[in-house]
Amino acid sequence: MAQKKQPRTPPRPSPTPRGVSKGALQKSKPRDELSPDAYLRARIRDVPDFPRPGIMFKDIVPLLADPKAFHMVLDGLAHPFIGEHVDVVAGIEARGFIFGGALAARLNASFVPLRKPGKLPGETDRVSYALEYGANELEIQDDSLENGAKVLIVDDLLATGGTAAAAGELVRRQGGYVAAYAFAVELDFLKGRRKLAPTPVVSLLRY
Ligand code: AMP
Repeated sequence: MAQKKQPRTPPRPSPTPRGVSKGALQKSKPRDELSPDAYLRARIRDVPDFPRPGIMFKDIVPLLADPKAFHMVLDGLAHPFIGEHVDVVAGIEARGFIFGGALAARLNASFVPLRKPGKLPGETDRVSYALEYGANELEIQDDSLENGAKVLIVDDLLATGGTAAAAGELVRRQGGYVAAYAFAVELDFLKGRRKLAPTPVVSLLRY
């Protein structure tokens, strides 16, 4: 009777995914039992009094450091737009670039940056707006949008809505149509959503 061929070397343990330490994988095991919402919330770090006294800063860096969490956020933000035609994802500097760029690639859309003043070369259009802390300005390059382009505006977090409303104004002024706004985090108590109505707002983690 033919003998079963023995493997010459013992099977190797499956490789650790690139960029993930073995320690991190072991630690994340019990947390995998959390609901998706709790899994993501556990990766948003509250930093009191940053960047000013009285502000509870929602730090998304731990979420970005976890490939699974980042993937889940991108899935959640992309989901409502699968099958909807989005021409352009416009990301708001700086954290809106992180989610916006990845989302544009998933939606087969272009990416257009909305930047802080003085960063974009060539002719630009600019708006000023009030922040939860302080004031700011945003710029877009002239002619970066086709007339009537369907635009999804993306940022990491919706607070008072001033930044996103300013982004919407810029997009419309450049001939774009703001189809929706998308955020990883929304601070409900600041009612930013009202400032963006009637345009649809998608957010994943509401506080
Ligand atoms: P707002 O214009 O008030 O909606 O503020 C939204 C912008 O400010 C986003 O680009 C956020 O990244 C940032 N931001 C405002 N408040 C916070 C906060 N509590 N934690 C983290 N980022 C914030």
